[in-house]
Amino acid sequence: GLTVTDITDEVRDAVRESGIQAGICCVYSPHTTCSVRINEWERGFLEDFAVMLKRLVPTEHYYAHDDWDRRTENICPEDMDFGNGHSHCMAMLLGTAGESVPVRDGELCLGTWQRVFYAEFDGQRRKRVVVKAMGM
Ligand code: ZN
Repeated sequence: GLTVTDITDEVRDAVRESGIQAGICCVYSPHTTCSVRINEWERGFLEDFAVMLKRLVPTEHYYAHDDWDRRTENICPEDMDFGNGHSHCMAMLLGTAGESVPVRDGELCLGTWQRVFYAEFDGQRRKRVVVKAMGM
């Protein structure tokens, strides 16, 4: 269920369409099992990242979130079909649902190797990302 997508080009397009020349672009995931992060898009690193996450948060582990004999809150039929306790833990571990990138001369101020990633940890549901560019 771990999927990482490079959304840099879509975010760049949104900033260009906004017409903002100087300001900030917020890229945000309104989901509890996803994160927006910035890093290098390189196969070796992506493999290392997946291995690290699966080592820290193994799928085949007990998660109280998936224990329907105990869980009484936020009852969700999809969670009953496919437990995603590990997905929430991965998202929390990464620490943020979104990133803010400065905009200068109408472009994202990303470093040479930086790309905007959309990381999904349960991969089973339709997801969306919110991009908000502010400035002048
Ligand atoms: Zn859940």
